[in-house]
Amino acid sequence: MPERNWAGNVRYAAARRHRPTGLDELRRLVAGSDRIRAVGTGHSFNRLGDTAGDLVSLAGLPQTVEVDRERATVTVAAAMRYGDLATRLHAAGFALPTMASLPHISVAGAVATATHGSGDGIGNLATAVSALELVTADGELLTVRRDADGDRFAGMVVALGALGVVTRLTLDVVPAFEVRQYVRLGLPRAALDEAFASAYSVSLFTDWRGGADSRGAAGRIDQVWRKQLADAPPPPADWLGTTAATGPVHPVPGMPARNCTAQLGEPGPWHERLPHFRLGFTPSSGDELQSEYHLPRAAAAGALAALDPLADRIAAVLQVCELRTVAADELWLSPQYGRDSLAVHFTWIGDGDAVAPVLAEVERALAPFAPRPHWGKVFTLDPAAVAAAYPRFADFAALAGELDPAGKFRTDLLDRYLPR
Ligand SMILES: Cc1cc2nc3c(=O)[nH]c(=O)nc-3n(C[C@H](O)[C@H](O)[C@H](O)COP(=O)(O)OP(=O)(O)OC[C@H]3O[C@@H](n4cnc5c(N)ncnc54)[C@H](O)[C@@H]3O)c2cc1C
Repeated sequence: MPERNWAGNVRYAAARRHRPTGLDELRRLVAGSDRIRAVGTGHSFNRLGDTAGDLVSLAGLPQTVEVDRERATVTVAAAMRYGDLATRLHAAGFALPTMASLPHISVAGAVATATHGSGDGIGNLATAVSALELVTADGELLTVRRDADGDRFAGMVVALGALGVVTRLTLDVVPAFEVRQYVRLGLPRAALDEAFASAYSVSLFTDWRGGADSRGAAGRIDQVWRKQLADAPPPPADWLGTTAATGPVHPVPGMPARNCTAQLGEPGPWHERLPHFRLGFTPSSGDELQSEYHLPRAAAAGALAALDPLADRIAAVLQVCELRTVAADELWLSPQYGRDSLAVHFTWIGDGDAVAPVLAEVERALAPFAPRPHWGKVFTLDPAAVAAAYPRFADFAALAGELDPAGKFRTDLLDRYLPR
């Protein structure tokens, strides 16, 4: 088990590390521990997954994948990486509706933080979950299902590891499909909504160095990654005032495009086009921090305008900024709870001290738009403001208290944002 998270900015403080090979061993471990957290693949950028007590990886448990063709579901071991699951699913003729920018993350870790891809009509990865199996504080195995446990289930999916150690998840699947990815350059910001609506999954990238456009808006959109169903017509040559990229590109300027999924309209399976990064290669740049804020979709223009005065300060510590859309859902701690969302993501340089003051300014500028932070990335928002942005926050706190009365799954970060 690694000493640090993927980005290297968090050294896990755990006194003991565990890699059980069976469910009973895991149940005994949880029952006997005072403080315990599960770790997935460690791709989060904050201390949500850290503990001073026992840190447990589920990668030693059998990595099962069970496809139910009739119900169109797959039940998968918690520690399985999305990329490995996707290969197996595709071979069985199925697909997931969406994937994150990287396939390297574990299913349980990604679901716990409401990891997402992009698409006006597509929910985050956790919205595909129809059942969960978890080891609760007393070491018991609890199964909850969307169709049987109703509202309570909606509180248990995006759970930040606070309710127990998830061992298996059942996900909805769809028939396998093909995607073509086109990258277009130089989108006027006024065309943002049209660009997002133009294809199955669309991501926009800017480095905030574009200078003001004719309306005084900074932060021209440098790249549009348009992931369209393979049988949809390609974008016309003059699409929304953009030009076609003439070769493969990486979203972070200067990084090698070979790390990225195929572009230039080459058709390919969903799992080799929906992520930006390829499984066998380093995703993103590596030496980086990430932050992301989810805003009501209708606030997009206002929120970007509020960031405009900070363009130079952002650009000075930024590798790239990505804009995505995510459909509303009903999961209590999902950043998309009850609202179609614009996700404003920042890949910062790896220097936390240099990033911190800019992050504070970004958070101040976005505050009027009720931002909800990505749970797995760096944020410093006021806890009261975060709680106020989630209508079901108090219900989740009560659920955590009920399932974990002694607080063995708590972390410092949870104590700050989810007081008991
Ligand atoms: C290069 C890069 C690109 C990224 N791109 C995206 C993106 O496109 N979209 C996006 O939304 N996010 C993105 N992220 C963030 C990432 O998806 C999330 O941080 C995700 O939670 C990481 O999954 P993980 O398996 O590494 O989880 P970890 O970081 O290991 O853990 C995350 C949380 O889940 C909990 N957890 C893990 N396993 C279990 C379990 N079995 N039971 C209970 N709790 C558990 C942990 O305790 C922790 O609180 C990116 C991160 C990186 C490094």
